[in-house]
Amino acid sequence: MFYADYFADAKAKRGGAWMNQLRGASIDKDGQKTIPIITNSCNYQKPTPGQPSLLSLGEVETLFHEGGHGFHGALTQGKYESLNGTNVKWDFVELPSQLMENWVKEPAVLQEFAVHHETGEPIPAEYIEKIIEKGNYDAGYMGLRQTSLGLIDMAWHGNTEPGTIDEVEDKVHALTSFFPERSSAMSQRFGHLFAGGYSAGYYSYKWAEVLEADIFEEFKQNGLYDAETSQRLKETIYTKGGQVDPMDLFKEMMGREPNPDALLRREGILSETAPSQNTAPEVQTQNLPDNGPDFG
Ligand SMILES: [Zn+2]
Repeated sequence: MFYADYFADAKAKRGGAWMNQLRGASIDKDGQKTIPIITNSCNYQKPTPGQPSLLSLGEVETLFHEGGHGFHGALTQGKYESLNGTNVKWDFVELPSQLMENWVKEPAVLQEFAVHHETGEPIPAEYIEKIIEKGNYDAGYMGLRQTSLGLIDMAWHGNTEPGTIDEVEDKVHALTSFFPERSSAMSQRFGHLFAGGYSAGYYSYKWAEVLEADIFEEFKQNGLYDAETSQRLKETIYTKGGQVDPMDLFKEMMGREPNPDALLRREGILSETAPSQNTAPEVQTQNLPDNGPDFG
């Protein structure tokens, strides 16, 4: 069961957008199924008389993102609630949501619904191209920055050697920075390192991008709505919850381990035709506690 609560309500609702699992799926010993109850909450402007609710591109991406978490929670099937839906390893939980965002910027998809609210004209293709180009601006630097933050996080939580902050940061800095100067007080001011649930897992953001870009490239090759690819995606990523190790699910979906080249191609860093050079990096994972937080 899926409930959507899309409009802002300053009196009754906090800001932001999130998915929540009010009740997880399960199957009891007699084979009786309990269906999950899933919500998507956003804060879009309510329509007024004569004026529809007009969403920005970012808001549409959020709609698809939370929809992806929603599918993950709603399509799940399995015996144990604690292993269903979004009860997965932390570095896997944003794959089903971020993956959905890819469809938003596809011209074929946009033309189905992104029309001018007065004239009915579809969004011009050159606007879409500009949006994609703008999105890729500084992608190399941003990618290094996220990687660097993920590595600093792991360095702190995996560090067994006594040392100064500078010594810990310098090791990471040597791997990821193209500027000669260390950024100032990164460990002290980056809140995710020791708070907010992403400690020893901040890399999850970038890792989810690697996974979803890789899977989406499969759709780009087979067709955005290809039935066989969609079915495979549903049966692996969206229905197995935490019953199977994420890497095994990914391999079931793709027939191989993840490869970051698809992400680099999407960001314009690798050319579309460059041969694959990367092998999958090894990653640490941590378990998401049952009844974890809402997913943003
Ligand atoms: Zn999310």
